[in-house]
Amino acid sequence: MEDQRHRGEAGVPDSPMVEETGPEMTVFACAACGAALTGPLKRLPAVPEAPGYAWWEAEEMGPSPATVPSGCYAIETEPYGVPLVVAGAPGPVMPRHGTRCNIDGQPLVSQGPRGNIVMNPDDCRGLTTRHASTACCGATPYGGLNQVCACGTLVATLCSDCCLPYELHLSPDHVRALPSRSPGSDRTA
Ligand SMILES: [Zn+2]
Ligand SMILES: [Zn+2]
Repeated sequence: MEDQRHRGEAGVPDSPMVEETGPEMTVFACAACGAALTGPLKRLPAVPEAPGYAWWEAEEMGPSPATVPSGCYAIETEPYGVPLVVAGAPGPVMPRHGTRCNIDGQPLVSQGPRGNIVMNPDDCRGLTTRHASTACCGATPYGGLNQVCACGTLVATLCSDCCLPYELHLSPDHVRALPSRSPGSDRTA
């Protein structure tokens, strides 16, 4: 006797493997003036590793490949950047970058803000750089916030010098996260 149970022919609908809700998307806007600073971005579970990049061998100076893929963001759980304080042992001064010492050779660690919104700098709009520390070809985070909204408020830190991970860190205290409906998620309740 042949088994007649052909799968999919019994009128049973295929089990829904595709989630019906679209991905949660977020637009970040300046908390002071409300101007949108990004398009809709998808949250990643964690900040990715920075891509390996031999900046010292690059033919042209410029930013490394971005840490966060375009269209995405992630929340930084580690403290980021200034203020740096003298510590007993070397530690991270910012994620995805090495250690740092002061001019006396004492190791420094970051007591900077946590919870930064890390994104691809190319996804941001309406910000201009106000240099707070010197860099050879881009911006460094060593002076703190260095990105100004059109309204004059410092809202983010750009890290774009050639020897640093290429990242934009929105300050959670200076931006607002707005839910954004993703295309195709039109549903009537
Ligand atoms: Zn603004
Ligand atoms: Zn450089």
